[in-house]
Amino acid sequence: MHEHAIHPVSPEWAAKAKIDAETYALKYRASIDDPDSFWLGEAQRLDWMQQPTKIKNTSFDRDDFRIKWFEDGTLNLATNCLDRHLEKRGQDVAIIWEPDHPDTPNRIITYDQLYKDVCRFANTLKADGVKKGDRVTIYLPMVPEAAVAMLACARIGAVHSIVFAGFSPDALAQRINDCDSQIVLTADEGLRGGKKVPLKANVDAACEKANVRTVIMLRHTGADVPMVEGRDVDWHDAIEPHNAECPPAEMNAEDPLFILYTSGSTGQPKGVLHTTGGYALWASMTHEYVFDYRPGEVYWCAADIGWVTGHSYVVYGPLANGATTLMFEGVPNYPDFSRFWQVVDKYKVEQFYTAPTALRALMREGDEWVKKTSRKSLRILGSVGEPINPEAWDWYYNVVGDGRCPIADTWWQTETGGHMIAPLPGAHSLKPGAAAFPLFGVQPALVDPTDGHIVEGATEGALVILDSWPGQMRTVYGDHDRFIQTYFTQYPGKYFTGDGARRDEDGYYWITGRIDDVINVSGHRMGTAEVESALVEHPCVAEAAVVGMPHDVKGQGIYAFVTTTATTDNSEELRKELVQWVRKEIGPIATPDVVQFAPGLPKTRSGKIMRRILRKIAENDTGNLGDISTLADPGVVDDLLANSPHAK
Ligand code: ATP
Ligand code: MG
Repeated sequence: MHEHAIHPVSPEWAAKAKIDAETYALKYRASIDDPDSFWLGEAQRLDWMQQPTKIKNTSFDRDDFRIKWFEDGTLNLATNCLDRHLEKRGQDVAIIWEPDHPDTPNRIITYDQLYKDVCRFANTLKADGVKKGDRVTIYLPMVPEAAVAMLACARIGAVHSIVFAGFSPDALAQRINDCDSQIVLTADEGLRGGKKVPLKANVDAACEKANVRTVIMLRHTGADVPMVEGRDVDWHDAIEPHNAECPPAEMNAEDPLFILYTSGSTGQPKGVLHTTGGYALWASMTHEYVFDYRPGEVYWCAADIGWVTGHSYVVYGPLANGATTLMFEGVPNYPDFSRFWQVVDKYKVEQFYTAPTALRALMREGDEWVKKTSRKSLRILGSVGEPINPEAWDWYYNVVGDGRCPIADTWWQTETGGHMIAPLPGAHSLKPGAAAFPLFGVQPALVDPTDGHIVEGATEGALVILDSWPGQMRTVYGDHDRFIQTYFTQYPGKYFTGDGARRDEDGYYWITGRIDDVINVSGHRMGTAEVESALVEHPCVAEAAVVGMPHDVKGQGIYAFVTTTATTDNSEELRKELVQWVRKEIGPIATPDVVQFAPGLPKTRSGKIMRRILRKIAENDTGNLGDISTLADPGVVDDLLANSPHAK
């Protein structure tokens, strides 16, 4: 394999970081040995109305199943994100909004202003009849009103369900119905990369299949959209009569905060339910430690609020910590491939957080787009969503970060509420492609997928978590059996993540991909990440997705879908070269049987490769591709089908 340098913690980082190696070791031990004291301590980062006295009350045993944290404590998450900052930081910037196009005026919103906007909108929701526990569907683009809506729900105890503002009317209707929400918050249109998204029209279509009482619509692009009498109201008209003071609801720590449907990479999306206290603590704590955040710094997570990353790391974590959080409406390649880095320079961003899919897309366009910007303000870079290939990691580190900025490769899930495994910049040497070590209270283990026994030492297996952590989801909304079935049945008594991982001789965790995607070639088990990373090492390859295919002799063969860089000619020679390349990089066992060039890979709207579709193509079983409603561009699939060797 290619050598990727290990990066030790620099002396400066060790000296100034919030958590150094020694502190990490001590705190981690304490979090496992005496969780009640540890978490009571960490809970002091929140303002409680009623301090909790019962801390951890959890069991993953089927017969005695319970997940409760801080169960007699009460609090309100909106006051934690707003009210308590007003005295000292009212004039500090809470949200910087950077619009889709750089020439559109931006918006700078202070904590004072955000507090007023949230109270006003909370009163608006109340006046519409929204009560504690009611579900509110949010289908808004990346505008500050989206954060206002979330916090307004939290303020009155309503449960928000955000649906990514790119999903189809059907997908929206399905999610409105699943949680039975009577109200939808939307905008006339969204705007991404200069393209308009007909949000209100989508809501209208969804409402034909759902029972919606009220639609509150924000005028964003100013498009002329029809309004339904008695159901639809203009956002500004709706808030007009209401004042900017709204007493916060006193919420039990275990009261629901939000529902969020998973990306649907592996199947039917699940309505993940998070509660108030544990989630708030988890989002705040991980945001502070993983990004080494200090008030006053400009922090930017480029994820959409439609994903859990946007919930925990654009809104709740940063605002609970009194941060300045940047909210970006646009996309990385508009107006050009330099946009991310221009925005970094414009606001002197110190922490920047994005997904490998964006990095690979930018990397294939060459370094010039990055190099013409300064990026001097950057201190930390984050990655989330998929395993980051070592090649992309090196590019992020060397080209974007100029070799100065530690990379936080954060492994976590919608279900986990926040980061679970990630290196801390002042504590851990970095290995490109490794998510490294568990955060406080997180007890990862690897099990043998065939019989479920725990495997120790440097080895590979299915990734499980042995005990509860405060940010854990509490149920699948409306289907507790599915919750138990999905996460606690395969390996009884343990939380099953669905992912596979490797632990190396230094104890670092490397996520190898979804366990369902593991390929078994002649009895040799291989994670998809490893083969894909080998392909991405080749200078002509921008992105790769690997799946298993039936093979008479080997049981399974390797089928690789490959997207090449902008300037590459997809020749027969290159195909042969890639086969030899993987053989040389990993070994003969990993020799791809098929390499198919693909102009694009099927991805979820959150940017993840949907391997289950590729698997069907590789198996030549394309009659029923399953639920593809969360696919970003279904057209990609037609191209793959037309060019698959089976089609010829
Ligand atoms: P669904 O559960 O509906 O199939 P999903 O798993 O894609 O969708 P998310 O909760 O958004 O939905 O994604 C979590 C998954 O993303 C993880 O289980 C893991 O497979 C992958 N992932 C996230 N971060 C990382 C990371 N840093 N390294 C490797 N994999 C990651
Ligand atoms: Mg998942």
